[in-house]
Amino acid sequence: MPADSLCPGCGKALAEDAETVPFCSVRCRDVDLGNWFFERYRVSRLFDPENDQEEFQAALDSSAEEAQEGG
Ligand SMILES: [Zn+2]
Repeated sequence: MPADSLCPGCGKALAEDAETVPFCSVRCRDVDLGNWFFERYRVSRLFDPENDQEEFQAALDSSAEEAQEGG
């Protein structure tokens, strides 16, 4: 194992026997997973046509109106 492995969470050197490889600790691993999940969650909530059909249709209608008024 390379001696210069760094934790992707905090950038600190990683212990060779860390049980949470590639993270230096459970905390860093959880934070990284949490960030990933939260980003996915935020993106899906911003625009989710499967669960927000009405919002999706409204967005289509408003963009169509803008296109017509633009002429
Ligand atoms: Zn770390």
